[in-house]
Amino acid sequence: MQIIKTSPSRLSETDFEHLGFGEVFSDHMFSMEYMNGEWTLPQIIPFGKIEILPTLCSLHYGQVVFEGLKAFYSKDGINIFRPEKYHERLNKSCQRLCIPEISYDMFMEGLVELLKLDRNWVPKKKGYSLYIRPFVFATDSFLGVKVSNTYRFMVVTSPVGAYYKEGFNPIRLMTSGNYARSIKGGLGAAKAPANYAASLLPAEEAKKKGFSQVLWLDGIEKKYIEESGAMNVFFLMDDKLVTPSLEGTILEGVTRDTVIHLAKDWGVDVEERKISIDEVISASNEDRLKEVFGTGTAAVISPVGEIQHKNTLVKINGGKTGAFAQKLFDEITGIQCGEREDRFGWCYSV
Ligand SMILES: *Cc1c(COP(=O)(O)O)cnc(C)c1O
Repeated sequence: MQIIKTSPSRLSETDFEHLGFGEVFSDHMFSMEYMNGEWTLPQIIPFGKIEILPTLCSLHYGQVVFEGLKAFYSKDGINIFRPEKYHERLNKSCQRLCIPEISYDMFMEGLVELLKLDRNWVPKKKGYSLYIRPFVFATDSFLGVKVSNTYRFMVVTSPVGAYYKEGFNPIRLMTSGNYARSIKGGLGAAKAPANYAASLLPAEEAKKKGFSQVLWLDGIEKKYIEESGAMNVFFLMDDKLVTPSLEGTILEGVTRDTVIHLAKDWGVDVEERKISIDEVISASNEDRLKEVFGTGTAAVISPVGEIQHKNTLVKINGGKTGAFAQKLFDEITGIQCGEREDRFGWCYSV
């Protein structure tokens, strides 16, 4: 692999005490290209502009996928959390968008070399981490609609603080009204920018009404809960943990999987099934709805304090963070930074 180092480093200009989310980028990035049927030219280069033609097909037709994972500072080294799961999902997304898959070895080699070179960009402050953004985009230059023959895979990294400026405080969600994020057979299960494009207008409207994000209902009956923004959702009802099943319309979150593993390990019943908004409202009326929270790499666990559906406002746990959400957050972040035992072998140490 070719490595071109940047000089001087931008480390000293970075305020590691006050980091937002995804605003600062580390010194280097990884890049490789797909041409003549294979991934080649792996290289690490200084973070910076890349040259593209205005006719780059992915700008016009959206043949793009991405991932988001994190690395954490621990006293024994840098922990990448569950990289094989994110790699597996990257390839699933690639398949759906006709993008050639990337081998685990190539993916990891790029990631590990990049982290070794930029290891000082991993924040040491508690609760902070290095967000890793791999992405693949089609690079043929043409204006007809067809599958591209060439691609570029890149990884950029960003030292980050907490995802929500509110901190670990409950967010307010609003159901999607007339909008749909995805339907069965669409792109919902792929981590593709197109899904986010579909979500921007509804999210803006929800924000104007004072909500943090949209709670997506299924696109056909507008009845069953799907997910929220960039998070999967969980409901603690009658001491059971319930989350929407994977039916091709929602993203298979790695944090979702982590939460399911931990809950089962703690002896909690977990149900992956269809869950309607009406069921949630009834459970709340009957005092059986204890907690609601979202899960995602960026925020880890995001407690939900209120859900607005049409004219009904569901208040959850008095609008406060629940004990179960807190316990999950403490356990996951504890494992990630090496302070709690990694019982499932989730951390990959660099
Ligand atoms: C990335 C993402 C999630 C969360 O997945 P994690 O692997 O837990 O980060 C949930 N929903 C959507 C739409 C996403 O893009």
